[in-house]
Order: sequence, then structure tokens, then C-alpha cells
Amino acid sequence: MPVEFVDLKAQLRAVRVPVNDRIQKVIDHGQFIMGPEVAEMEQRLAAFTGAKHCISVASGTEALLIALMALGIGRGDEVITTPFTFVATAETIALLGATPVFVDVEPDTCNIDSEKIEAAITSRTKAIMPVSLYGATADMDEINVLGAKHGVPVIEDAAQSFGAEYRSRKSCNVSSIGCTSFFPSKPLGCYGDGGAIFVSDDMLAETMREIRTHGQESRYYHTRIGVGGRMDTLQCAVILAKLDIFDWEIAERIRIGRAYRDMIAAIPGIRAPVVRNDRTCVWAQFTVQTDKRDAVIASLREVGVPTAIHYPIPLHKQPAYRSLCRVVGGVGVSESVSQRVLSLPMHPYLDEATMRTIVHALEKATKLL
Ligand SMILES: *Cc1c(COP(=O)(O)O)cnc(C)c1O
Repeated sequence: MPVEFVDLKAQLRAVRVPVNDRIQKVIDHGQFIMGPEVAEMEQRLAAFTGAKHCISVASGTEALLIALMALGIGRGDEVITTPFTFVATAETIALLGATPVFVDVEPDTCNIDSEKIEAAITSRTKAIMPVSLYGATADMDEINVLGAKHGVPVIEDAAQSFGAEYRSRKSCNVSSIGCTSFFPSKPLGCYGDGGAIFVSDDMLAETMREIRTHGQESRYYHTRIGVGGRMDTLQCAVILAKLDIFDWEIAERIRIGRAYRDMIAAIPGIRAPVVRNDRTCVWAQFTVQTDKRDAVIASLREVGVPTAIHYPIPLHKQPAYRSLCRVVGGVGVSESVSQRVLSLPMHPYLDEATMRTIVHALEKATKLL
């Protein structure tokens, strides 16, 4: 049996009946756009996070874009974030004509270094966008204090951290706005594209709902520029079916992550991922660091263990972003971790035997070096 990087087939065995039932219901009622499952999912997810509003959208990227649009961010504005992330984080900022301002990450968690943010704040700063990379939040309270001090909202790019907790609060409800993704392999995934925005401000929520549907205030009456950014009813139905086992899956992710880390901690040359004590990680990626990445990848591949690199090139070095971003205070940590990170298979259905195979292959790889 080949080792799966994210085993969606194993998950399907646990949810097949409710998923089929939910999908069949949508096909029968026929309300494929903004059907009843959309509102039902939004209510359940808002309750899950504790945020007042959940606005479902077409993808995680769309969530970020609509959040920035609702804040009126555009040409001449700056948004502070990290270069060590998936491209969508900076892409949405740049799409609106604003400038992504990159500050460096912490070498162990790979999340934005909260102590380096204030030096990047200018009169043009319109938002701070920390990314909850790999499934755990950044130092949100420190970042929120900075946001409040300078009067700028904090948007959490929580595409990888839905279900994680920070000081007993749920990711997506730890700052002004939280944006997540339901891409199939994310911690809570649908069977296509999907995403959601979480916010407790009523005005912002209303603005986001309008932007989601072409800036329309009422039918065919458009008060602002919007997008076609709705999430399909069918995808919301899939999320609803999966939500019933989500708490269990999160607990499994945390249990497996702990066991994995304990096993890896003893391997010389491999640095296990770090999670701060005041938060949990839902392990969207289980990412180790090693100086001998190529050799480790090759030896894992030999025994059928897939790996991935999140991410090999920091965004300030990407051809499309080099000239339109601003870097503050140096981003040497982002550059060095991009050479060292390696993601291993991780999902709630990872069994003990497979984990041992992976850890054994890692041990062997490091001994061969
Ligand atoms: C996946 C991801 C996104 C984009 O989500 P999509 O649903 O794929 O559009 C944005 N930011 C980060 C950090 C992600 O991992």
C-alpha cells in the first residue's frame, strides 16, 4: 500500500453515508446557489469559532480578496505579511494594487515574527495579515495590540489552521477578520473549492456579503464593485457532513502530531516542528527542517513515502512579486527555512505502523548522510 500524503479515501470511509445523503438532498431540492445548506453551514461554523458572522465564499483566496476589498484596500496602500507563505496571501494584496510588505518569520514556527512588525508600519499600512502557517496561529495577541495601537485591522490567513486554538480561542476568531480555505486537503476540506470569512463586526459582514455577490445591495442594484465569490450549496453540504466528525479529527491530528514529534525528536539532523504552549496545531502540514533535504526526499521516495516543500521560494524572490513588494528588516530566516523545510505525510487517519515506516525511513536517510 502506497503511503498517502493526505488520505482522503480513509476519511471517506468514515463519512460516505452522510456525505452521500447530504449531496442527494441538494440535488433533490435543486437550490445549487445559496441553497439552505449555505446558511446552515455558516451558522454552524460561526458557532464553532465563536465569531458572530461566517460568510462562505468560493475559496480561501476569495476570502482574502473579499476581506481586503471590504476594508477598502487598494492602490497606494500597504499590507504587512510574511513572504514565507502560499502565494495567495500576497496575490490578493497585489491584485488590488496594494503593496505586500514582507517581514521575516520565526526560525522555529515559521510564522511571522511579531517583534519585527512595528518597524514596517507606515501611514500607508492598512492591515496586518499574519498567516497561521502549517496549522498554528502566530502571536495573535501581540499582533492585535500593534493593530489597535496603529488603528489597523488584523486579518488572519487561517487557510491552514481551521480548528486550531490560540489561548483557548479558535483560529479565525483571534483577530478582526479570519479567512479560511476548504480546499480538499486542508484540515476541513470540501470536494472542490470553498472558503469562509469570519468577522464579528456587523457592518463589515454586510459589506463582505454584498461584495461576494457582485456588490449588490438588493437584486440587480449594485452599490459597490464586487465579485462572483459564492460557495456552492453542494460544497457546503459536504462540509456539513464532515463537521460531525471534525472535533474527533482535530483530536486525532493533535494526538498523531504529538507522537510524530516525539519519534522525530531523537533523530539527529532532523528538527521536529515546534508548537508554542499557548496554542494547538491542526497540522495542515507536518513540516520538519533539515540541511540535507534532497537526500532525505530521495530516500523517503525509495520506500514510497511522498513529501512536499511548503514553500521552496519565499514570495519576495518570486518573479511576479520581486518588484512590487517591499521588504522590511531583512528576510534571511524566510530564505534559510525555505531551503530546509520538508513536509511529511499527515492526516487524522495516519496509523501507527505507517508512522513507524516514515520515521524509520527518516532515520535511515539521516544515517546514510
Ligand atoms: C490554501 C491557502 C490559501 C488559498 O486557499 P484556496 O482555497 O486554495 O484559494 C491561502 N493562504 C494559505 C496560507 C493557504 O495555505
